[in-house]
Amino acid sequence: MDRELKICHLYPEVLNLYGDRGNIICMKSRLERRGISCRVDQMRLGQKADLASYDLFFIGGGQDFEQEVLLEDLRSGKGAEIVSAVEDGKTFLCICGGYQMMGHYYETHDGVRCEFLGAVDFATVGGDVRMIGNYAFQLGEESGGSTVVGFENHSGRTRLGSGVKPLGTVLKGYGNNGEDKTEGVRYKNVFGSYSHGPILPKNPQLCDHILETALERKYGRKIELEPLDDRFEMLAHDSVLDKIMKGEIN
Ligand code: GLN
Repeated sequence: MDRELKICHLYPEVLNLYGDRGNIICMKSRLERRGISCRVDQMRLGQKADLASYDLFFIGGGQDFEQEVLLEDLRSGKGAEIVSAVEDGKTFLCICGGYQMMGHYYETHDGVRCEFLGAVDFATVGGDVRMIGNYAFQLGEESGGSTVVGFENHSGRTRLGSGVKPLGTVLKGYGNNGEDKTEGVRYKNVFGSYSHGPILPKNPQLCDHILETALERKYGRKIELEPLDDRFEMLAHDSVLDKIMKGEIN
């Protein structure tokens, strides 16, 4: 059977900090190396399309101003379509500003409140001190359980609603708020994280877990991807993890 994933890259012209689009390149490459087709469409401000026809959505990070620019477009109907896709079990990878967008609101450190989607029960409030640096976290079992290395730079402190699971537990660094050791969110098939850099090329196990999640949702059964030769990726991952944990880089 010919298999295919259709990826929708939301707001690529506005939300793309620190090479976040590298996540798309990584997902496409890891699918195609296994003989699975991958179509990527960009969905820009003002553009309309049937979001229900996509399997996987990617939203990158952006600064406060860029997040404010999106609000009108979200209100024009795209926001409601995103919420329906989440409830329908579609897979989402959302980074930093794009992650904050999935919650109820983001209040900037100077008091501007962006009412966001409320697709997932959490909210974010900006603080005066930015949380910047390389960091590491342990994924929850439902997200594959591997260790992730990443880079964060945010002023927003995210607090998850009481019934909502984080994506992982902080090993070193700040994560959601620098206090409760939670990092990101995992709700249905939404993976939200503060990790720029981009996250997936540095953490191939997480990339495959996300791809398998989207394939299972699409084809209605568990699909295990055949292993790729990730020796170099894992050497880089392990060496960075070691340096982060020893405090040699921050
Ligand atoms: N503007 C948000 C914050 O500073 C998100 C920043 C980002 O995407 N890196 O919290």
